[in-house]
Amino acid sequence: MKKNQEKKVEEKLSNCKYIFVVGGVISGVGKGVTASSIARILSDKGQVVTAIKIDPYINIDAGTMNPTEHGEVFVLDDGDETDQDMGNYERFLGVDLSRTNYMTTGRVYQSVIQRERNLEFNGACVQVVPHIPFEVIHRIEEARDKAKADVVIIEIGGTVGEYENILFLEAARMMKLRQPNNVFFVMVSYLPVPGNLGEMKTKPTQHAVRTLNSSGIQPDLIVARSVLPLDDRRKEKISMFCNVPKDRVISAPDEGSIYDIPINFEKEGLSNIICEAMGLTCSIEKNENAKKWEKFAKATHSYNGELKIAVVGKYFSTGDFTLADSYLSVIEAIKYSAYTSGKKPVLTWISSIDFEKDPKTIKNLSQYDGIIVPGGFGSRGIEGILMAVEYARKHKIPYFGLCYGMQMMIIEYARNVLGLKDANTREVNPNSKAIVIDVMDDQKEKIEKKNMGGSMRLGAYPADIKKGTIAGNAYKTSVISERHRHRYEVSNEYKDSLEKAGMIFSGMSPDGKLCEIAELSTSKHPFFLGTQFHPEFKARPLSPHPLFSAFIKACINNKETK
Ligand code: GLN
Repeated sequence: MKKNQEKKVEEKLSNCKYIFVVGGVISGVGKGVTASSIARILSDKGQVVTAIKIDPYINIDAGTMNPTEHGEVFVLDDGDETDQDMGNYERFLGVDLSRTNYMTTGRVYQSVIQRERNLEFNGACVQVVPHIPFEVIHRIEEARDKAKADVVIIEIGGTVGEYENILFLEAARMMKLRQPNNVFFVMVSYLPVPGNLGEMKTKPTQHAVRTLNSSGIQPDLIVARSVLPLDDRRKEKISMFCNVPKDRVISAPDEGSIYDIPINFEKEGLSNIICEAMGLTCSIEKNENAKKWEKFAKATHSYNGELKIAVVGKYFSTGDFTLADSYLSVIEAIKYSAYTSGKKPVLTWISSIDFEKDPKTIKNLSQYDGIIVPGGFGSRGIEGILMAVEYARKHKIPYFGLCYGMQMMIIEYARNVLGLKDANTREVNPNSKAIVIDVMDDQKEKIEKKNMGGSMRLGAYPADIKKGTIAGNAYKTSVISERHRHRYEVSNEYKDSLEKAGMIFSGMSPDGKLCEIAELSTSKHPFFLGTQFHPEFKARPLSPHPLFSAFIKACINNKETK
């Protein structure tokens, strides 16, 4: 019996389908969202889908990169610090991924070199080709096995023609040669509409396909990204010159909401095209999740009123684009809870340094229905953040602190309620007389040895939740699991006095040593809560995060009673 089952799994795995998503012309046109949307529509057709992101840089993970340049660092349950696209996959697919779903050039080389040191190559000369592509294939298969997937979507970072991603394309080419019917190539290309011409141009896409051809790969389908929908003439041109059947040229114009993209793909019949091309048996009926998805996408267009939310942080560069990328999961988490409650969230990014420069501008915060302080590192702008926390507490504006935002909440309370004027975090002032946020014991050595990459308290940890608190009422369960990324924590030396002064630690690590959630009683403030973890990493469109939803509810009440 067991043997039979094993055989079935083996058969399934050898029949697995691989869809590579590559970029043409320019990056940043939604390759990640395209890959996520394909994953979504195939999973709605009853397929078990998993997704892999390949980042062609040398970094072992995204944890050491500056988020204002590279975008958010997305943390997985197992603590892997990855690219923000991994967040899109999890949110679109509604699954938890793991480190097998993420690879970088650094990671691939590191394991090949390690295996060479372990004498695993039996005296052979270890070469860039074929050993690097072999390792890439091995990792893809590992992710497939872990998910027991019918379909693996693999997004290759960058655009075709770059040196950096060439070995990943080589791996894809080899896979196609081995299993021609199981490998499918999607190219996400960009069609510019130059202002002076007012006409959509296909030539850059033609060149991109030729470049991909020179790696031995022919795209099976082209997703044509542009400001406008593709007309019939352009579809014909791309089909003719790029050697792709016309119905496999998919129009993907800019959309107001990324959640419309899977729906638009289905209007073009994309899942059927892929299923037919790869011999996948797909269900015809819309499943429950597809219906729920449509409902959520609709809610992003029809709402009854807006909520004004201030996101206060220590921003290095302003400009909505940079910030939107650095805090992508926070923005998405707010959207899920707000739209599900029938409200459109309108976010304003406020640099805390402005409050430091001109303290009276703090009053401007009164116009907001709620205030969020997201995660952060270092000392710049923290006095301004503390001014914002104090304002939110005293004026009873709903306040939600995420990681650094929770630590700031504790410092503010220690300073202004406990009267410890010098209170601070060790990260900012190691000479403070009241270090209320201290470094975790196991972190001290790592910091001394400059062992900084991938060494924070990372990934999912459980916490016990106190009944009858804001957290307890929101989660409706006594044990939770949330994702972390920090080195510092509330110092136990000050826990008692903080509690005596009214701070409630409504979430604690199971051993009772680490404070995970802090809040004030609703008799004192409608919503003043901070989490040592990052709840935003677990918010999904079809299951909004309970704490974000509780915060949004408080914002709605605040707005209605103003
Ligand atoms: N800098 C703080 C720490 O390391 C908070 C980190 C964060 O907000 N992710 O503990």
